[in-house]
Amino acid sequence: MAEAPQGVWIKDPMAILADNADAGLVVRDGRIVELVPAGKAPETPIASIFDASRHVVIPGLVNTHHHMFQTLTRAHPEAINKSLWPWIKALYPIWAKGMSPEAFRLASQLAMTELMMSGCTCASDHQYLFTAGLEGAMDIQAEEATRLGLRMTLTRGALDLMAGDGEQAVAPRSVIQRTDTILADCERILARYHDTSDGAMLQVALAPNALFDVSFELLTETARLSQQWNCGLHTHLVETAAEAAFVRAEHGCDAVDFLEKCGWLNERVWLAHAVHFDASEIARLGQHGVGICHCPTSNMVLASGTCPTHDLEAAGCKVGLGVDGSASNDNSNLMESLRHALMLGRLTYGAEAITHKDVLRWGTQGSAQCLGRHDIGTIAPGKQADLAMFTLDELRFSGASDPLAALVLCGAHRADRVMIKGRWTVEDGFPVGIDIEQLRHAHGAAAKSFLESM
Ligand code: ZN
Repeated sequence: MAEAPQGVWIKDPMAILADNADAGLVVRDGRIVELVPAGKAPETPIASIFDASRHVVIPGLVNTHHHMFQTLTRAHPEAINKSLWPWIKALYPIWAKGMSPEAFRLASQLAMTELMMSGCTCASDHQYLFTAGLEGAMDIQAEEATRLGLRMTLTRGALDLMAGDGEQAVAPRSVIQRTDTILADCERILARYHDTSDGAMLQVALAPNALFDVSFELLTETARLSQQWNCGLHTHLVETAAEAAFVRAEHGCDAVDFLEKCGWLNERVWLAHAVHFDASEIARLGQHGVGICHCPTSNMVLASGTCPTHDLEAAGCKVGLGVDGSASNDNSNLMESLRHALMLGRLTYGAEAITHKDVLRWGTQGSAQCLGRHDIGTIAPGKQADLAMFTLDELRFSGASDPLAALVLCGAHRADRVMIKGRWTVEDGFPVGIDIEQLRHAHGAAAKSFLESM
């Protein structure tokens, strides 16, 4: 990636999601050091100027939920047009036969590149597939994120139960790991990659898959490790009404009470989906500052329901966004998820209740807070220089009056420029140092050979 010169003035943006920065901002040593009000020049010494007059500048987007390996099984004929349980039952036998480390690397590289091209500067991937040969999956993702210059929360997923019976028994044996094996790998990657310092490029979170396929021991032990290492905790929760009913039947309490029993009701936790909570659960989640990852595209594709974003945020929850895995989206475009969050939210709460500023906040600051980060997510002095910059040159934007609203309402989907820690990682719409045609070809070939090896 290209090294940005020190003291660069990103000058006179067409619009910017920050107060008192109409004349832009100054980046130095990977941080935002100054906002420049209208009609002013920077006080900081400047080495160079980037003319941003064609650009709408927002904080880099932050993705809080994905399953990157699923990019190899997009739009699979056996899984399309189904709700969650038939969908996952169709896909698990395919995923369970295992993929090579090379295929997993390409899947991760493709998803990270796609995310970055959509304006994402920090991503979490809920990686729970550890079939034979993929024991080093987290190391592969750390390498690929580092190579791309993408900030990442390595999110160590896990299943240690075959999971109940009947409706809930979905995961084949080859994706189940022993509890002690999982916990040992959690500690290994925490020691190797978890950086709690300001501006960290890699952090670690622990992520048992879902309440129906992990043990009580795994939940309580990951909670203990989270406290010990000051790292995030993540899981899928109440994506479907059936899952909420399962928790009540299995544990005799609601999902939030069960989280509390496991040591999971605190501000280090963020939950994917959170569709089927009742009012009492929402209030308790809010009281404890739990984070919520809303995955609007996936919720619509699988018709799982609608996350009560507005109520959760009003109760005190942090609300962020995620693209979710690429077999239920089926892409990794985070700007598109902002647009979907706006539309889906309006169906629930009305046209006045959810604005473009709400979804921009969820996709940046809210997501950053879910990941426990206070050094990214806003454009302000002292924050990391993570920026997404869009031009409004396509036909779809022509005639738009409010540039920030246009990003969401007209459907921005590809950033022209992305900066992470002060470095350009996307220039003129293309990722720096990545041949996307070659990547697409290699990934497509890997997907084909993975599916043909069934
Ligand atoms: Zn998921």
